[in-house]
Amino acid sequence: MSKTNRGKALWKMPSHGRGTCPVCKTIRIKLLYTRNKSDGKQLKVCKRCINASQARVDDAQKVV
Ligand SMILES: [Zn+2]
Repeated sequence: MSKTNRGKALWKMPSHGRGTCPVCKTIRIKLLYTRNKSDGKQLKVCKRCINASQARVDDAQKVV
């Protein structure tokens, strides 16, 4: 697997891999990591939230 979180690969993603992190609400941050919620849904989070507690991930709302 190539480095999907770096370089040109990002530019193929919607909004270039950036968005609002649903956990910490930081806008226009790169959402590069996937966390699973307790209900099985996947959530894209920023690098600061990779290690966020499961409770915070479960609490997060999908931000459009
Ligand atoms: Zn975050």
